[in-house]
Amino acid sequence: MYDKITDPENPNSNLKVQKAIEQPDQINHTFLNHFKAKRQLTVEEFVKGILEGNRTVLSQAITLVESSLYEHQTKAQKIIEQCLPHAGKSIRVGITGVPGVGKSTTIEALGNMLTKQQHKLAVLAIDPSSEKTKGSILGDKTRMETLANNPSAFIRPSPSAGSLGGVARKTREIIVLCEAAGYDVIFVETVGVGQSEVAVASMVDFFLLLQLANAGDELQGIKRGIMEMADAISINKADGDNKAPSELAARQYRNALALFPPSSSGWQPQVFTSSAYTLDGIDHIWETISDYVTLTKGNGYFYQRRNEQNLRILSETINYHLTQRFYEDKQIRLRLEQVRKDVLDNRISAYVAAQTLIDEYFSQS
Ligand code: GDP
Repeated sequence: MYDKITDPENPNSNLKVQKAIEQPDQINHTFLNHFKAKRQLTVEEFVKGILEGNRTVLSQAITLVESSLYEHQTKAQKIIEQCLPHAGKSIRVGITGVPGVGKSTTIEALGNMLTKQQHKLAVLAIDPSSEKTKGSILGDKTRMETLANNPSAFIRPSPSAGSLGGVARKTREIIVLCEAAGYDVIFVETVGVGQSEVAVASMVDFFLLLQLANAGDELQGIKRGIMEMADAISINKADGDNKAPSELAARQYRNALALFPPSSSGWQPQVFTSSAYTLDGIDHIWETISDYVTLTKGNGYFYQRRNEQNLRILSETINYHLTQRFYEDKQIRLRLEQVRKDVLDNRISAYVAAQTLIDEYFSQS
């Protein structure tokens, strides 16, 4: 039946042992491979995948950045740190305008043009609506369909939750990951309604404002501050009957901008018309951005602005962590509850109460 074999531990013994029946492999390799595929990548695997331009790995890394779980955050920070030396080489462009002005159509037209010129484009979005509504102005429709299927473009919608500050911080980190993955043009899209522009301006090199003819500034919800931030204004939908009014509006904006004080970049903001339908003026948008980059790299403003943005990230991150730790402190949470009552009952002024709590926090051992 079975082969009698010599006991390998005792070869001179007359006792022969029987070789047992070979057992089938205990491990189901199909499942093993499945679990292997499902397991989280290591930091090194993430970094390698990102540097190779692997979009799936890039997407997964962005999901880690967006996660609020502590272990995801720490892992994301390690990935970002290792990607940083490979980042920074792109042109970062902020694009804003009220809903319906044609941001996604313009980005799609511009994006398809850029990828034909061998650029790799990442489109990110900051959407201030998401915090309140949990919905999103920028994400509620099927947007940029042809660009979404373009292998040289990477589109990532706005994270759907979090404060504007939080979303802005994460977007900066996502820019680093996209740059490390080889994207040399980054568009950060936002809705032109206020605060989010300030956040976007603090992370881009160039700011493009899209406007419409025949709509007053109030109607377009564009505040003077946003116009002041713009490096270029394009009057979009300059096609058909709308062409002549768009050119008139461009002249009016040019006159209005001439009254603004000159920027320290040495750049004179440009105003022109474009149509994402006929594609007239789309190439001019990119020419203008390229001219701006040439000028500001030449006079050093480009680098100075990035340095200032970096210092701003430093102080914002310190502020963020200090605030987080303060509010998460058990003792402070208890005291805060009590102090809130005292303030409401007018037993202590809000200023004094705040100072007292902060002193208490920092005097803890
Ligand atoms: P967004 O909300 O700013 O992203 O605007 P969309 O890109 O979604 O465009 C809003 C509407 O305007 C859509 O129906 C577009 O088809 C239309 N649109 C966008 N660009 C143009 C353009 O250049 N000319 C014309 N005539 N319509 C446009």
